[in-house]
This record gives sequence, structure tokens and C-alpha cells, in this order.
Amino acid sequence: AKNLGRNRFNYFTPSMQVYAKYRMRLIQDLRQALQNQELELHYQPIVELKSGRVTKAEALVRWCHPVRGMVSPSEFIPIAEDTGLILDIGNWVFEQAAKQSAYWRDTLGTEVQISINESQVQFRDDKHGCRDAIALLHELNLKGAELCIEVTEGLLQDADIGVRAQLKAYRDAGIQLSLDNFGTGYSSLAYLQQCHIDYLKIDKCLTNNLTASDDEMKLCEAIILMAHKLDIKVTAEGVETEAQRQRLVAIGCDYAQGYLFSRVVTATVFAQSYLQPQAL
Ligand code: C2E
Ligand code: CA
Ligand code: CA
Repeated sequence: AKNLGRNRFNYFTPSMQVYAKYRMRLIQDLRQALQNQELELHYQPIVELKSGRVTKAEALVRWCHPVRGMVSPSEFIPIAEDTGLILDIGNWVFEQAAKQSAYWRDTLGTEVQISINESQVQFRDDKHGCRDAIALLHELNLKGAELCIEVTEGLLQDADIGVRAQLKAYRDAGIQLSLDNFGTGYSSLAYLQQCHIDYLKIDKCLTNNLTASDDEMKLCEAIILMAHKLDIKVTAEGVETEAQRQRLVAIGCDYAQGYLFSRVVTATVFAQSYLQPQAL
């Protein structure tokens, strides 16, 4: 290792050490990111397929690192989960989304339901901000249904009493629940009803194959039928083509999001594109 120049070591050796160093740096930076206001919440419209209207959006966090530029959430969310930083980030995301929804209501007279992603780690922590969250709703005069929490199958599979109590607290506050990335995990169906899920999101790997394979289409159709029987609405994720949209309409899917409709955009662009002040 002595022969290796510093640069060579840093840039050309894909060793664990390099990664560990990179990761440590990222952790340090992430600690600062909230204080330095480097995090932003961006939005992707969710389209009601029947009408083509946009009344919902998914909030997705963005990190604008001063040196590295945009760091993808798939890179920093896992790190935030490992270090517990996800708790502060999660509370910030919730607060930001709630305020955004109230702001759009107050300035444009439009109700937009904002979906927020919450990590398992948040639910499994005693300090989960459920209580603060509900206090914030009252403060902003929100009914609750302006927000929807997206959770993953992992959370519901081994939801202990603590997790269930938190889900119930959200529901009691009027907040809706959505099951993200459906079709990627075990997809045991029992918990769908036990946990009172309102929406189920068909993962983009299923959506992708919707027009390529008949089996995949039948699978999606079956998922939608089952969900509707359980009074659950279905959103398809990662819709990229018109052919996929048409298939989804044909098999009765309720909502869709994806690059066909829009990329993830800033709050300002979202409002300009989809929210018109309501005529009195
Ligand atoms: P996700 O919740 O499944 O979010 C959907 C991801 O798909 C987003 O990636 C979005 O930009 C991307 N996407 C949307 N439409 C399309 C499409 O048509 N095609 C393709 N290929 N991709 C599409 P993003 O923003 O990079 O987020 C990645 C993941 O990071 C999210 O996956 C979510 O698990 C996590 N994440 C993002 N924001 C938050 C947050 O505030 N809190 C937590 N806990 N996790 C978050
Ligand atoms: Ca999501
Ligand atoms: Ca998803």
C-alpha cells in the first residue's frame, strides 16, 4: 500500500477503505445538511387516471450538497437510516409537507394530498414524531387527509404493538396510509386489512413489464381487483409510456405517477403546472 500514491489510492482503488472514508464524510456532511438548509422537498404529481386530474403529489427529498451537487436519496437515505439521522430528516420532511399543503390551501384555495415516505427505522424508534406531527396538524388547521404516509411491506410484516399504535395514531388523526413498492417483497395480504391501508402502490418493476408480458398484466389486474375488494385504491408507479397508461386504465387502476406525466419538480413548478387558484 506504501507504493500507491495518495491519488491512486483515493481514486482508483475500489477498496472498502475508500468507501468507508467516503461514507464517513457523507455522514458528517449529512449531519450539517439540515442546519445548512441543503435539503429540499420536491414533488411528483399523482394523476387520477379516470379524469386526468392531479390532486395528489409524492414528496421526495433532495440533497443539494455544496461540493458533490445533487446526492440521490437512494444513496443518503440508507446512511441516514443506519445513523439515526433519518429521525430528524423524517420530522423535517413531515413538517415541510404539512406546511406546503397548508400554504397551497391558503394561497390557492386548492387541496393537494401530499404523500410522505417514512422509513421503518422511524416507526421502530421511541422518539418517532407521531405526536409532534399531530400537534402540527392542529396548528396548521389541517384535517389530516391532506397527508398520506407511504410505508413498506417490511414494516407491516413484523409490525409489533408499538408500530401498530403509531399507524393507528396517524389514522386517528385522519392521515391516510399507502403501501409502497407493492409486488417486490413477500406481499402477504393479511396485513393489508389489519393495518387499514388506503392505497397500494404497484412497484415500477411491475409497471415496466405491463405491456411486455401478458402474465404481468394479469398479475397487475389481479392486484387491482383484490385491492378494490378490500376497499383499497391503487396507484401505479414509474409509468413511462402511453401504452402503459392505456393498459392501466383498461385494468381499472385508480392513480398513476411517472415520467410520462412529470418528473419530480420543485414546489413552485408543481404549483405553476397543476394548481390553479380556484374560481370563486
Ligand atoms: P420511492 O418512494 O419508490 O420513490 C419513487 C422513485 O421513483 C423516486 O426516486 C422517483 O424519482 C422515481 N421515479 C418517478 N417516476 C419514475 C419513472 O417514470 N421511472 C423511473 N425509472 N423512476 C421514476 P428518488 O426520488 O430518487 O427516490 C428514491 C427513494 O428514496 C424513494 O423511492 C424512497 O424510498 C426514498 N426517499 C425519497 N424521499 C424520501 C423521504 O423523504 N423519506 C424517506 N424515508 N425516504 C425517501
Ligand atoms: Ca414512495
Ligand atoms: Ca415506490
